[in-house]
Amino acid sequence: MTIYWERCDFCGLYKPTLRCAMFPELSVDFICCVSCPLRISKCKSPAWKSSIDQGLLTPRTRVVSSEERKRVFEELMKALGGKSETS
Ligand SMILES: [Zn+2]
Repeated sequence: MTIYWERCDFCGLYKPTLRCAMFPELSVDFICCVSCPLRISKCKSPAWKSSIDQGLLTPRTRVVSSEERKRVFEELMKALGGKSETS
C-alpha cells in the first residue's frame, strides 16, 4: 500500500491521504477517516481500514523481555563506556 503526502479534502491539511471509499473523488487523511460519521454506518471499506487493522498508525506497544532489556542496556553501556570519562 502506498501512502501519498497530499492535501486532505476534508480538513484541508497536508497529510498522507488515501482515496475516500465513500467519495472517490476526495482524498481523506487518517484522522478524518476514523472520525467520519459514515465510517460505521455506511462505509463498507474505509480508506484507512487496512492501516488501522494492521496497527500501522497506532503506537506500538511491544513487550520486551527482561533478557532483551538487559542485553540492550549492556550494549548501551558498552557504547557509552569510552565516552563517559570525557563528559
Ligand atoms: Zn483530514
